[in-house]
Amino acid sequence: MGITGISAQDLYPKNGTVDVHDYIFNLSLNDENNNIKGEAIINVMFKSGVDRFVLDLIGKSGDYGMEVTAVFEDGKSANYDFKDNKITITPLSNGKGAKTFKVIYSGIPRKGLVIDTTKFGRRSFFGDNWPNLARHWLPSVDHPYDKAGIEFRVTAPEDYDVVATGKKIEESNLGNGFKLTVYKEPAPVAMKVATIGVTKFASKLLDIVHGIPVSAWVYPENRLEGFSDYKVASKVLAYFIGNIGPYSFAKLANMQAKTQWGGLENAGTIAYFEDSVTGKNTVEALIAHEIAHQWFGNSVTEKNWNHVWLSEGFATYFSILYLENVYGDEKRKDELALDRKQAIDYYKQNPSPIVDLTIKDPMRVLSINSYQKGGWVLNMLRYKLGDDVFWRGIRDYYKKYRNANVLTTDFRKCMEKASGGNLESFFQQWLFTKGHPEIKWDWSYGKGKVKINLEQVQKHHLFNFPLEIGIVKDDEIQIVKVEVAKQSEIFEISLKSSPDSIVLDPDYWLLFEER
Ligand SMILES: [Zn+2]
Repeated sequence: MGITGISAQDLYPKNGTVDVHDYIFNLSLNDENNNIKGEAIINVMFKSGVDRFVLDLIGKSGDYGMEVTAVFEDGKSANYDFKDNKITITPLSNGKGAKTFKVIYSGIPRKGLVIDTTKFGRRSFFGDNWPNLARHWLPSVDHPYDKAGIEFRVTAPEDYDVVATGKKIEESNLGNGFKLTVYKEPAPVAMKVATIGVTKFASKLLDIVHGIPVSAWVYPENRLEGFSDYKVASKVLAYFIGNIGPYSFAKLANMQAKTQWGGLENAGTIAYFEDSVTGKNTVEALIAHEIAHQWFGNSVTEKNWNHVWLSEGFATYFSILYLENVYGDEKRKDELALDRKQAIDYYKQNPSPIVDLTIKDPMRVLSINSYQKGGWVLNMLRYKLGDDVFWRGIRDYYKKYRNANVLTTDFRKCMEKASGGNLESFFQQWLFTKGHPEIKWDWSYGKGKVKINLEQVQKHHLFNFPLEIGIVKDDEIQIVKVEVAKQSEIFEISLKSSPDSIVLDPDYWLLFEER
Protein backbone atom coordinates (compact mmCIF):
# COMPACT_ATOMS: atom_id res chain seq x y z
CA MET A 1 0.00 0.00 0.00
CA GLY A 2 1.59 2.75 -0.42
CA ILE A 3 3.81 5.07 -1.22
CA THR A 4 5.13 8.24 -2.04
CA GLY A 5 2.66 9.60 -4.47
CA ILE A 6 3.06 8.40 -7.98
CA SER A 7 4.07 4.83 -7.36
CA ALA A 8 1.05 4.02 -5.21
CA GLN A 9 0.15 0.33 -5.60
CA ASP A 10 -2.97 0.42 -3.50
CA LEU A 11 -5.42 0.55 -6.35
CA TYR A 12 -8.41 2.02 -4.54
CA PRO A 13 -9.69 4.94 -6.64
CA LYS A 14 -9.35 7.85 -4.25
CA ASN A 15 -11.51 10.87 -4.93
CA GLY A 16 -9.77 14.07 -3.96
CA THR A 17 -12.81 16.24 -4.69
CA VAL A 18 -15.10 14.78 -2.01
CA ASP A 19 -14.61 14.41 1.72
CA VAL A 20 -17.06 12.39 3.78
CA HIS A 21 -17.74 14.31 6.98
CA ASP A 22 -19.92 11.77 8.78
CA TYR A 23 -22.18 8.77 8.35
CA ILE A 24 -25.42 7.97 10.13
CA PHE A 25 -26.28 4.30 9.77
CA ASN A 26 -29.84 3.35 10.67
CA LEU A 27 -29.92 -0.43 10.90
CA SER A 28 -32.83 -2.75 11.64
CA LEU A 29 -32.04 -6.25 12.86
CA ASN A 30 -34.50 -9.03 13.59
CA ASP A 31 -34.74 -12.58 14.89
CA GLU A 32 -36.77 -14.08 12.06
CA ASN A 33 -34.01 -14.01 9.48
CA ASN A 34 -30.61 -12.48 8.72
CA ASN A 35 -31.95 -9.77 6.50
CA ILE A 36 -30.89 -6.29 7.58
CA LYS A 37 -32.62 -3.08 6.59
CA GLY A 38 -30.47 -0.01 6.30
CA GLU A 39 -30.80 3.68 5.78
CA ALA A 40 -27.45 5.38 5.46
CA ILE A 41 -27.18 9.15 5.69
CA ILE A 42 -23.89 10.40 4.33
CA ASN A 43 -22.86 14.00 4.91
CA VAL A 44 -20.11 15.04 2.55
CA MET A 45 -18.19 18.11 1.54
CA PHE A 46 -17.74 18.76 -2.16
CA LYS A 47 -14.42 20.53 -2.49
CA SER A 48 -14.64 21.41 -6.16
CA GLY A 49 -16.50 20.37 -9.31
CA VAL A 50 -17.47 16.78 -8.54
CA ASP A 51 -18.21 14.55 -11.53
CA ARG A 52 -19.20 11.57 -9.47
CA PHE A 53 -19.33 10.31 -5.96
CA VAL A 54 -18.85 6.60 -5.41
CA LEU A 55 -19.91 4.49 -2.44
CA ASP A 56 -18.87 0.88 -1.95
CA LEU A 57 -21.66 -1.64 -1.34
CA ILE A 58 -21.69 -5.32 -2.20
CA GLY A 59 -24.67 -6.02 -4.43
CA LYS A 60 -26.98 -9.00 -4.23
CA SER A 61 -25.70 -12.20 -5.72
CA GLY A 62 -27.48 -15.43 -4.77
CA ASP A 63 -28.70 -15.29 -1.19
CA TYR A 64 -26.30 -12.62 -0.07
CA GLY A 65 -25.59 -8.97 -0.75
CA MET A 66 -27.54 -5.75 -0.70
CA GLU A 67 -30.33 -4.35 -2.84
CA VAL A 68 -30.70 -0.59 -3.07
CA THR A 69 -34.24 0.75 -3.27
CA ALA A 70 -33.54 4.47 -3.34
CA VAL A 71 -30.80 7.05 -3.22
CA PHE A 72 -31.41 10.70 -2.40
CA GLU A 73 -29.29 13.79 -2.86
CA ASP A 74 -30.30 16.63 -0.54
CA GLY A 75 -33.81 15.16 -0.35
CA LYS A 76 -34.29 14.70 -4.09
CA SER A 77 -34.08 11.46 -6.03
CA ALA A 78 -30.44 11.06 -6.94
CA ASN A 79 -29.02 10.23 -10.30
CA TYR A 80 -27.26 6.94 -9.53
CA ASP A 81 -26.29 3.60 -10.82
CA PHE A 82 -25.61 0.50 -8.70
CA LYS A 83 -23.43 -2.11 -10.30
CA ASP A 84 -20.12 -3.90 -9.76
CA ASN A 85 -20.53 -3.38 -6.01
CA LYS A 86 -20.47 0.39 -6.31
CA ILE A 87 -23.13 3.05 -6.07
CA THR A 88 -22.01 5.67 -8.52
CA ILE A 89 -23.79 8.98 -8.09
CA THR A 90 -23.69 11.70 -10.71
CA PRO A 91 -24.52 14.76 -8.62
CA LEU A 92 -27.58 16.83 -9.51
CA SER A 93 -25.52 19.83 -8.58
CA ASN A 94 -21.79 19.59 -8.25
CA GLY A 95 -20.85 22.93 -6.74
CA LYS A 96 -18.68 23.36 -3.67
CA GLY A 97 -20.24 22.84 -0.27
CA ALA A 98 -21.98 20.45 2.07
CA LYS A 99 -24.36 17.81 0.72
CA THR A 100 -26.37 14.97 2.16
CA PHE A 101 -26.94 11.66 0.47
CA LYS A 102 -29.25 8.94 1.70
CA VAL A 103 -29.18 5.30 0.64
CA ILE A 104 -32.06 2.92 1.41
CA TYR A 105 -31.02 -0.70 1.18
CA SER A 106 -31.52 -4.21 2.53
CA GLY A 107 -30.15 -7.72 2.26
CA ILE A 108 -28.18 -10.45 3.99
CA PRO A 109 -24.51 -9.62 4.49
CA ARG A 110 -22.13 -12.40 3.51
CA LYS A 111 -19.32 -10.87 5.58
CA GLY A 112 -18.55 -7.70 7.52
CA LEU A 113 -21.54 -8.09 9.81
CA VAL A 114 -21.19 -11.55 11.31
CA ILE A 115 -24.63 -12.92 12.19
CA ASP A 116 -24.09 -16.12 14.11
CA THR A 117 -24.45 -17.74 17.51
CA THR A 118 -21.97 -17.18 20.31
CA LYS A 119 -20.11 -20.10 21.78
CA PHE A 120 -22.93 -20.29 24.31
CA GLY A 121 -25.51 -20.60 21.55
CA ARG A 122 -26.95 -17.09 21.69
CA ARG A 123 -27.79 -15.18 18.54
CA SER A 124 -25.36 -12.34 17.87
CA PHE A 125 -24.44 -9.64 15.36
CA PHE A 126 -20.85 -8.39 15.28
CA GLY A 127 -19.26 -5.92 12.89
CA ASP A 128 -15.93 -7.34 11.67
CA ASN A 129 -14.87 -5.02 8.90
CA TRP A 130 -11.10 -5.16 8.65
CA PRO A 131 -9.79 -4.44 6.06
CA ASN A 132 -12.55 -3.72 3.53
CA LEU A 133 -15.63 -5.67 4.57
CA ALA A 134 -17.73 -2.67 5.66
CA ARG A 135 -19.06 -2.56 2.11
CA HIS A 136 -20.94 -5.82 2.78
CA TRP A 137 -23.35 -4.01 5.11
CA LEU A 138 -22.56 -0.27 5.15
CA PRO A 139 -22.60 1.90 2.00
CA SER A 140 -19.41 3.89 2.46
CA VAL A 141 -16.08 5.03 1.14
CA ASP A 142 -14.54 1.79 2.33
CA HIS A 143 -10.90 2.78 2.45
CA PRO A 144 -8.98 4.32 5.36
CA TYR A 145 -7.96 7.42 3.39
CA ASP A 146 -11.36 9.03 3.99
CA LYS A 147 -12.25 8.86 7.68
CA ALA A 148 -15.50 10.26 9.01
CA GLY A 149 -17.60 10.67 12.13
CA ILE A 150 -20.01 7.76 12.66
CA GLU A 151 -23.39 7.36 14.26
CA PHE A 152 -25.04 3.95 14.55
CA ARG A 153 -28.79 3.87 15.17
CA VAL A 154 -29.55 0.23 15.77
CA THR A 155 -33.10 -1.08 16.04
CA ALA A 156 -33.08 -4.62 17.39
CA PRO A 157 -35.35 -6.92 19.40
CA GLU A 158 -35.55 -5.47 22.90
CA ASP A 159 -33.76 -8.38 24.62
CA TYR A 160 -30.47 -7.52 23.00
CA ASP A 161 -27.77 -5.29 24.41
CA VAL A 162 -26.15 -3.06 21.83
CA VAL A 163 -22.66 -1.61 21.86
CA ALA A 164 -21.09 0.28 18.96
CA THR A 165 -18.42 2.74 17.96
CA GLY A 166 -19.00 6.00 19.84
CA LYS A 167 -20.77 7.26 22.92
CA LYS A 168 -24.23 5.96 23.76
CA ILE A 169 -26.63 8.88 23.33
CA GLU A 170 -29.98 7.11 23.27
CA GLU A 171 -31.58 3.87 24.35
CA SER A 172 -35.36 3.80 23.82
CA ASN A 173 -37.89 1.05 24.04
CA LEU A 174 -40.03 1.41 20.94
CA GLY A 175 -42.94 -0.48 22.48
CA ASN A 176 -43.31 -3.02 19.68
CA GLY A 177 -40.80 -5.52 21.00
CA PHE A 178 -37.95 -3.48 19.60
CA LYS A 179 -35.40 -1.13 21.09
CA LEU A 180 -33.47 1.70 19.47
CA THR A 181 -29.90 2.23 20.63
CA VAL A 182 -27.82 5.11 19.28
CA TYR A 183 -24.07 5.56 19.48
CA LYS A 184 -22.23 8.56 18.08
CA GLU A 185 -18.49 9.00 17.52
CA PRO A 186 -17.52 12.53 16.49
CA ALA A 187 -13.83 11.70 15.90
CA PRO A 188 -13.07 10.53 12.36
CA VAL A 189 -13.10 6.75 12.05
CA ALA A 190 -11.91 4.54 9.19
CA MET A 191 -14.56 2.07 8.03
CA LYS A 192 -12.16 -0.80 8.74
CA VAL A 193 -12.60 -0.10 12.46
CA ALA A 194 -16.28 0.88 12.71
CA THR A 195 -18.37 -1.71 14.51
CA ILE A 196 -21.45 -2.80 16.37
CA GLY A 197 -21.96 -5.68 18.81
CA VAL A 198 -25.49 -6.93 19.39
CA THR A 199 -26.26 -9.91 21.61
CA LYS A 200 -27.02 -10.57 25.26
CA PHE A 201 -24.13 -8.96 27.11
CA ALA A 202 -23.00 -8.46 30.67
CA SER A 203 -21.40 -5.02 30.73
CA LYS A 204 -19.57 -3.06 33.37
CA LEU A 205 -17.88 0.30 33.65
CA LEU A 206 -14.43 -0.75 34.83
CA ASP A 207 -12.82 2.62 35.25
CA ILE A 208 -12.61 6.19 34.05
CA VAL A 209 -9.11 7.07 32.88
CA HIS A 210 -8.38 10.73 32.06
CA GLY A 211 -12.10 11.17 31.46
CA ILE A 212 -12.38 8.14 29.17
CA PRO A 213 -14.88 5.48 30.28
CA VAL A 214 -13.32 2.00 30.13
CA SER A 215 -15.85 -0.82 30.00
CA ALA A 216 -16.13 -4.56 29.46
CA TRP A 217 -18.87 -6.17 27.35
CA VAL A 218 -18.77 -9.93 27.75
CA TYR A 219 -21.12 -12.87 27.41
CA PRO A 220 -23.30 -13.24 30.53
CA GLU A 221 -21.93 -16.77 31.00
CA ASN A 222 -18.42 -15.26 31.25
CA ARG A 223 -19.38 -12.27 33.37
CA LEU A 224 -16.88 -12.35 36.24
CA GLU A 225 -13.96 -13.82 34.30
CA GLY A 226 -14.49 -11.29 31.52
CA PHE A 227 -14.64 -8.30 33.85
CA SER A 228 -11.46 -9.56 35.47
CA ASP A 229 -9.55 -10.23 32.21
CA TYR A 230 -10.49 -6.93 30.56
CA LYS A 231 -9.81 -4.83 33.67
CA VAL A 232 -6.16 -4.43 32.66
CA ALA A 233 -7.35 -2.22 29.78
CA SER A 234 -7.45 0.80 32.10
CA LYS A 235 -3.80 0.35 33.07
CA VAL A 236 -2.84 0.05 29.40
CA LEU A 237 -4.88 3.13 28.49
CA ALA A 238 -3.25 5.20 31.23
CA TYR A 239 0.22 4.12 30.05
CA PHE A 240 -0.40 5.14 26.45
CA ILE A 241 -2.12 8.42 27.30
CA GLY A 242 0.81 9.27 29.58
CA ASN A 243 3.47 8.40 27.03
CA ILE A 244 1.97 9.18 23.62
CA GLY A 245 -0.81 11.73 24.01
CA PRO A 246 -4.57 12.12 24.47
CA TYR A 247 -6.93 9.30 23.52
CA SER A 248 -9.04 10.18 20.48
CA PHE A 249 -12.34 8.34 20.87
CA ALA A 250 -15.44 8.67 23.05
CA LYS A 251 -14.89 5.56 25.11
CA LEU A 252 -12.88 2.38 25.40
CA ALA A 253 -15.17 -0.65 25.39
CA ASN A 254 -13.60 -4.10 25.46
CA MET A 255 -15.93 -6.59 23.85
CA GLN A 256 -15.92 -10.38 23.74
CA ALA A 257 -16.98 -11.11 20.18
CA LYS A 258 -17.18 -13.32 17.18
CA THR A 259 -14.35 -12.08 15.01
CA GLN A 260 -12.17 -13.70 12.39
CA TRP A 261 -9.19 -12.11 14.18
CA GLY A 262 -7.62 -12.66 17.59
CA GLY A 263 -8.52 -9.10 18.28
CA LEU A 264 -9.84 -6.31 16.12
CA GLU A 265 -8.98 -2.77 17.17
CA ASN A 266 -12.34 -1.18 16.30
CA ALA A 267 -12.23 2.48 17.30
CA GLY A 268 -13.20 2.68 20.96
CA THR A 269 -14.98 -0.70 20.83
CA ILE A 270 -12.34 -3.40 20.60
CA ALA A 271 -13.38 -6.95 19.69
CA TYR A 272 -11.51 -9.84 21.29
CA PHE A 273 -11.97 -13.48 20.27
CA GLU A 274 -14.51 -15.44 22.31
CA ASP A 275 -11.96 -17.56 24.16
CA SER A 276 -9.95 -14.51 25.19
CA VAL A 277 -11.94 -14.72 28.41
CA THR A 278 -10.44 -17.22 30.83
CA GLY A 279 -10.36 -15.33 34.12
CA LYS A 280 -6.58 -15.82 34.18
CA ASN A 281 -5.28 -12.63 32.53
CA THR A 282 -3.87 -14.52 29.56
CA VAL A 283 -4.45 -11.82 26.93
CA GLU A 284 -2.75 -8.76 28.41
CA ALA A 285 -0.38 -8.50 25.43
CA LEU A 286 -3.29 -8.73 22.99
CA ILE A 287 -5.22 -6.06 24.91
CA ALA A 288 -2.15 -3.81 24.85
CA HIS A 289 -1.77 -4.39 21.10
CA GLU A 290 -5.39 -3.47 20.32
CA ILE A 291 -5.36 -0.45 22.61
CA ALA A 292 -2.09 0.78 21.05
CA HIS A 293 -3.95 0.73 17.73
CA GLN A 294 -6.29 3.45 19.00
CA TRP A 295 -3.33 5.81 18.55
CA PHE A 296 -1.64 4.05 15.64
CA GLY A 297 -3.97 2.78 12.94
CA ASN A 298 -7.16 4.38 14.24
CA SER A 299 -6.22 7.98 15.06
CA VAL A 300 -3.05 8.22 12.98
CA THR A 301 -4.07 6.09 10.02
CA GLU A 302 -2.17 4.79 7.01
CA LYS A 303 -3.30 6.60 3.87
CA ASN A 304 -2.48 3.63 1.78
CA TRP A 305 -2.66 -0.11 2.50
CA ASN A 306 0.97 -0.73 1.59
CA HIS A 307 1.96 1.30 4.66
CA VAL A 308 -0.02 -0.79 7.14
CA TRP A 309 3.13 -1.33 9.21
CA LEU A 310 2.38 2.17 10.57
CA SER A 311 -0.58 0.48 12.21
CA GLU A 312 0.56 -3.12 12.88
CA GLY A 313 4.26 -2.59 13.48
CA PHE A 314 3.42 0.18 15.93
CA ALA A 315 0.77 -1.85 17.76
CA THR A 316 3.24 -4.73 18.00
CA TYR A 317 6.04 -2.59 19.41
CA PHE A 318 3.91 -0.43 21.68
CA SER A 319 2.48 -3.58 23.22
CA ILE A 320 6.08 -4.60 23.91
CA LEU A 321 6.84 -1.15 25.36
CA TYR A 322 3.87 -1.50 27.69
CA LEU A 323 4.99 -4.99 28.76
CA GLU A 324 8.55 -3.73 29.27
CA ASN A 325 7.20 -0.97 31.48
CA VAL A 326 5.21 -3.43 33.60
CA TYR A 327 7.46 -6.50 33.63
CA GLY A 328 10.93 -5.15 32.91
CA ASP A 329 13.46 -5.21 30.09
CA GLU A 330 13.77 -9.02 30.10
CA LYS A 331 10.19 -9.13 28.85
CA ARG A 332 11.09 -6.83 25.93
CA LYS A 333 13.98 -9.13 25.02
CA ASP A 334 11.83 -12.27 25.24
CA GLU A 335 9.20 -10.79 22.94
CA LEU A 336 11.78 -9.48 20.47
CA ALA A 337 13.61 -12.81 20.40
CA LEU A 338 10.39 -14.52 19.29
CA ASP A 339 9.62 -11.81 16.77
CA ARG A 340 13.13 -11.88 15.35
CA LYS A 341 12.92 -15.61 14.74
CA GLN A 342 9.58 -15.17 13.00
CA ALA A 343 10.89 -12.33 10.83
CA ILE A 344 13.90 -14.41 9.78
CA ASP A 345 11.82 -17.50 9.01
CA TYR A 346 9.29 -15.41 7.11
CA TYR A 347 11.98 -13.79 4.99
CA LYS A 348 13.18 -17.21 3.78
CA GLN A 349 9.75 -17.85 2.24
CA ASN A 350 8.86 -14.25 1.41
CA PRO A 351 11.84 -12.13 0.50
CA SER A 352 10.05 -8.79 0.36
CA PRO A 353 10.32 -5.42 2.09
CA ILE A 354 7.93 -4.21 4.80
CA VAL A 355 6.52 -1.56 2.50
CA ASP A 356 5.86 -3.89 -0.42
CA LEU A 357 4.57 -1.98 -3.40
CA THR A 358 3.78 -5.13 -5.33
CA ILE A 359 0.86 -5.98 -3.02
CA LYS A 360 -2.52 -4.88 -4.28
CA ASP A 361 -4.89 -6.88 -2.09
CA PRO A 362 -5.27 -5.42 1.43
CA MET A 363 -5.70 -8.90 2.94
CA ARG A 364 -2.16 -9.67 1.85
CA VAL A 365 -0.52 -6.75 3.62
CA LEU A 366 -0.91 -8.43 6.99
CA SER A 367 2.25 -10.40 7.44
CA ILE A 368 5.15 -11.04 9.77
CA ASN A 369 6.76 -8.14 7.91
CA SER A 370 4.13 -5.55 8.86
CA TYR A 371 3.79 -6.84 12.46
CA GLN A 372 6.94 -8.40 13.87
CA LYS A 373 9.50 -6.90 11.53
CA GLY A 374 7.74 -3.52 11.70
CA GLY A 375 7.95 -3.69 15.49
CA TRP A 376 11.62 -4.56 15.25
CA VAL A 377 12.26 -1.51 13.08
CA LEU A 378 10.84 0.70 15.83
CA ASN A 379 13.04 -1.07 18.38
CA MET A 380 16.10 -0.34 16.23
CA LEU A 381 15.00 3.24 15.69
CA ARG A 382 14.65 3.67 19.45
CA TYR A 383 18.18 2.34 19.92
CA LYS A 384 19.54 4.60 17.22
CA LEU A 385 17.91 7.74 18.63
CA GLY A 386 17.91 6.98 22.33
CA ASP A 387 14.81 6.82 24.53
CA ASP A 388 14.31 10.56 24.99
CA VAL A 389 14.46 11.46 21.31
CA PHE A 390 12.46 8.39 20.31
CA TRP A 391 9.58 9.24 22.64
CA ARG A 392 9.68 12.92 21.77
CA GLY A 393 9.46 12.03 18.08
CA ILE A 394 6.57 9.64 18.73
CA ARG A 395 4.66 12.29 20.68
CA ASP A 396 5.27 14.91 17.97
CA TYR A 397 4.17 12.47 15.28
CA TYR A 398 0.94 11.70 17.12
CA LYS A 399 0.25 15.33 17.86
CA LYS A 400 0.79 16.33 14.26
CA TYR A 401 -1.24 13.54 12.63
CA ARG A 402 -3.87 12.82 15.25
CA ASN A 403 -7.21 12.10 13.48
CA ALA A 404 -5.42 12.24 10.13
CA ASN A 405 -3.72 10.02 7.55
CA VAL A 406 -0.04 9.37 6.92
CA LEU A 407 2.55 7.65 4.81
CA THR A 408 5.90 6.34 6.06
CA THR A 409 7.64 9.53 4.94
CA ASP A 410 5.51 11.57 7.34
CA PHE A 411 6.72 9.45 10.22
CA ARG A 412 10.34 9.69 9.05
CA LYS A 413 10.16 13.47 8.90
CA CYS A 414 8.83 13.72 12.45
CA MET A 415 11.60 11.49 13.75
CA GLU A 416 14.19 13.49 11.82
CA LYS A 417 12.87 16.69 13.31
CA ALA A 418 13.06 15.23 16.82
CA SER A 419 16.56 13.87 16.31
CA GLY A 420 18.03 16.60 14.13
CA GLY A 421 19.47 13.90 11.87
CA ASN A 422 18.82 12.41 8.47
CA LEU A 423 17.07 9.05 8.66
CA GLU A 424 16.61 8.36 4.97
CA SER A 425 19.08 5.50 4.78
CA PHE A 426 17.72 3.93 7.96
CA PHE A 427 14.16 3.99 6.58
CA GLN A 428 15.30 2.89 3.14
CA GLN A 429 17.21 -0.15 4.32
CA TRP A 430 14.77 -1.41 6.93
CA LEU A 431 11.40 -0.57 5.39
CA PHE A 432 11.84 -0.35 1.63
CA THR A 433 14.58 -2.99 1.24
CA LYS A 434 13.99 -6.69 1.82
CA GLY A 435 15.90 -8.77 4.33
CA HIS A 436 18.31 -8.10 7.16
CA PRO A 437 22.00 -8.55 7.85
CA GLU A 438 23.05 -12.20 7.72
CA ILE A 439 26.24 -12.33 9.72
CA LYS A 440 28.98 -14.93 9.69
CA TRP A 441 31.54 -14.33 12.38
CA ASP A 442 34.23 -15.73 14.64
CA TRP A 443 36.65 -14.42 17.18
CA SER A 444 40.14 -15.04 18.47
CA TYR A 445 42.35 -13.69 21.21
CA GLY A 446 46.04 -12.85 21.11
CA LYS A 447 48.56 -10.18 22.00
CA GLY A 448 46.16 -8.41 24.35
CA LYS A 449 43.42 -8.11 21.77
CA VAL A 450 40.12 -9.75 20.91
CA LYS A 451 39.75 -9.92 17.16
CA ILE A 452 36.24 -10.22 15.80
CA ASN A 453 35.87 -11.17 12.16
CA LEU A 454 32.55 -10.12 10.79
CA GLU A 455 31.07 -10.77 7.39
CA GLN A 456 27.69 -9.84 5.93
CA VAL A 457 26.84 -12.78 3.68
CA GLN A 458 23.53 -11.63 2.21
CA LYS A 459 24.05 -10.62 -1.37
CA HIS A 460 21.24 -8.24 -2.25
CA HIS A 461 22.10 -5.28 -0.05
CA LEU A 462 24.88 -4.18 2.24
CA PHE A 463 23.40 -3.10 5.56
CA ASN A 464 24.71 -0.31 7.72
CA PHE A 465 24.07 -0.62 11.46
CA PRO A 466 25.36 -0.22 14.97
CA LEU A 467 26.20 -3.51 16.67
CA GLU A 468 26.77 -4.24 20.31
CA ILE A 469 29.37 -6.87 21.07
CA GLY A 470 29.19 -8.50 24.48
CA ILE A 471 32.50 -9.68 25.93
CA VAL A 472 31.89 -12.20 28.68
CA LYS A 473 34.47 -12.87 31.36
CA ASP A 474 33.82 -14.43 34.78
CA ASP A 475 30.06 -13.97 34.42
CA GLU A 476 30.47 -10.27 33.77
CA ILE A 477 29.56 -8.79 30.43
CA GLN A 478 31.21 -5.76 28.91
CA ILE A 479 29.48 -4.21 25.94
CA VAL A 480 31.37 -2.58 23.09
CA LYS A 481 29.52 -0.80 20.34
CA VAL A 482 30.77 -0.80 16.76
CA GLU A 483 29.44 0.56 13.48
CA VAL A 484 29.19 -2.02 10.73
CA ALA A 485 29.17 -0.69 7.19
CA LYS A 486 31.29 -3.08 5.15
CA GLN A 487 30.79 -6.52 3.73
CA SER A 488 33.74 -7.82 5.69
CA GLU A 489 35.36 -6.21 8.72
CA ILE A 490 37.68 -7.01 11.59
CA PHE A 491 37.10 -5.31 14.92
CA GLU A 492 39.83 -5.31 17.55
CA ILE A 493 39.24 -4.70 21.21
CA SER A 494 42.06 -4.47 23.73
CA LEU A 495 41.69 -6.89 26.61
CA LYS A 496 44.12 -8.10 29.28
CA SER A 497 43.16 -11.76 28.99
CA SER A 498 41.08 -14.01 26.79
CA PRO A 499 37.31 -13.68 27.31
CA ASP A 500 35.15 -16.72 28.16
CA SER A 501 32.82 -16.00 25.28
CA ILE A 502 31.58 -13.32 22.90
CA VAL A 503 27.96 -12.61 22.07
CA LEU A 504 26.58 -10.40 19.37
CA ASP A 505 23.77 -8.05 20.29
CA PRO A 506 23.21 -9.29 23.86
CA ASP A 507 20.46 -6.72 24.49
CA TYR A 508 18.36 -7.27 21.37
CA TRP A 509 18.78 -4.04 19.44
CA LEU A 510 19.52 -5.47 16.00
CA LEU A 511 17.40 -7.54 13.64
CA PHE A 512 19.95 -9.92 12.17
CA GLU A 513 20.62 -13.57 11.56
CA GLU A 514 23.71 -15.46 12.66
CA ARG A 515 24.95 -17.70 9.87
ZN1 LIG B 1 -3.02 -5.20 15.06
